[in-house]
Amino acid sequence: MKLEDFPKEIRSFVIPKQKGNMLYRCLDCGREYGIEKLLYTCPKCGQVLLLYDVDFDRLKKISGKMWRRIFDYRKMLTIPALKGIYLYHEFIGPVIPLESVIYLGEGHTPVVKANAFLQEKAGTEFYFKNDGQNPSASFKDRGMASALSYIHFLIQKGHISDVLAICASTGDTSAAAALYASYLQPHVKSAVLLPHKKVTHQQLSQPLGSGADVFEIPGVFDDCMKVVEALSEKYNVALLNSKNAWRILGQESYSYEIAQVFEYEMKNKVIILPIGNAGNITAVMSGFLKFFEAGIIDSLPKIIGVQSEHADPVYRYYLEPDVEKRKFVPVTVRPSVAQAAMIGNPVSMPRVIYLTDIYNSMAGKQSVFFVEVDEQAIMDWQLLANRNGHIACTHGGESLAGLVAARHQGIIDENDIAIIDSTAHALKFSGFQEMYFKNSFPAEFEISPKPDIMNSPVLVHPKDLENVPAPGKPLKGNDFKRFIERVSEEIATALDLKKGNRSRKNQ
Ligand SMILES: *Cc1c(COP(=O)(O)O)cnc(C)c1O
Ligand SMILES: [Zn+2]
Repeated sequence: MKLEDFPKEIRSFVIPKQKGNMLYRCLDCGREYGIEKLLYTCPKCGQVLLLYDVDFDRLKKISGKMWRRIFDYRKMLTIPALKGIYLYHEFIGPVIPLESVIYLGEGHTPVVKANAFLQEKAGTEFYFKNDGQNPSASFKDRGMASALSYIHFLIQKGHISDVLAICASTGDTSAAAALYASYLQPHVKSAVLLPHKKVTHQQLSQPLGSGADVFEIPGVFDDCMKVVEALSEKYNVALLNSKNAWRILGQESYSYEIAQVFEYEMKNKVIILPIGNAGNITAVMSGFLKFFEAGIIDSLPKIIGVQSEHADPVYRYYLEPDVEKRKFVPVTVRPSVAQAAMIGNPVSMPRVIYLTDIYNSMAGKQSVFFVEVDEQAIMDWQLLANRNGHIACTHGGESLAGLVAARHQGIIDENDIAIIDSTAHALKFSGFQEMYFKNSFPAEFEISPKPDIMNSPVLVHPKDLENVPAPGKPLKGNDFKRFIERVSEEIATALDLKKGNRSRKNQ
């Protein structure tokens, strides 16, 4: 839709202008730093940072109702920079001009309602929001669109040049970082560090295909993270892990989209997502808080963070009901099918503690919860979801298993409607499905397949056939006729098909 076709009172708002005054703020000592430089931790005390807009209050001068109209109308524009996460420009990165925005098709991922069967099984109405339908097939693209748009902005302003973007990854961060960095080549190059054999083949293929320098390191993600931190302290590199607060801003778009898709009605809504490094739950809380403060939504949804028994430091922290006695202890992770969340010492833990407090107090009651599920439940629920029309990854299975656990514990009420995050595409983690179907999980996963959800291909090769077709060697005449006849017979027998001449009538 063209600008002149919008209602008059919307026109001057529909295309956002570069505005605001953003700063990094340390979560521990409260010191603030300008954004002209790339900064990841507080130079004074070493704590993680969050970005905030000093002039945020200007956004409150526009009514919630007006904001809702602005976003809904803005969706009808065809400007690429506003087609993704920057639809919510004023709330994500108001200082970034639209000319700096990198848009590769991220955001606005589908929200798909579970069918009656699955809702019955899970015990509540729910939707998957499929973040696997982002360009690199995980939610990480939201954060990278933000981080790389900001880097692009700094390059255009002449503040930095020849950037080497670097990250540690459980697979998806590196896929997204390499993809977004490659769009800015030759000004930005990327290098990624992966734990050797702890990412899937599909995930490994992604940064390789995007032309990144890929390093595999012995150990687990937490070890890679330490190496990357050491590199970013000593050398001039741009860190793209979620320690980078720009990542958090971009991932807030997940919350904004949910608000918009449900017509800004957040009463009785529950958002469920897996926790690894805890960047995403930080962003989801922060996003809803900002929309709430600006009056765009008038209640805060419940948020439930899910962890596997095999990587559960956040869950353990909140097990202690007495706030004074809570103490964060990193855990040693064990193999998990929710492999992208297999993190024992989440970088964003201080942000989670900080925002969970604010969220609960703004909501006026406990609204952030943490649940734990076992590996068996993650696989069973993932596969069951996908037998009912979904494309959930193992982490989507973790979210669904978390929904079921939360329903049992009474965290979710009968009238609640859940929106659950399938953080990546099923295909990235198809190796785990294969292990399940072949019953070949190593013992430490503690997963035994349920026969009714196992599946495997059947090779149809009738023994009495001498000749079968092969590439470049088609069958002819009677051989071919017999081949078709015998193979169809075997399939019909296997499927227990009844005879009829329907197919001929249909022709
Ligand atoms: C990164 C990732 C997670 C964990 O998200 P955090 O922000 O690290 O908590 C979960 N699922 C998938 C598919 C991921 O790639
Ligand atoms: Zn500090």
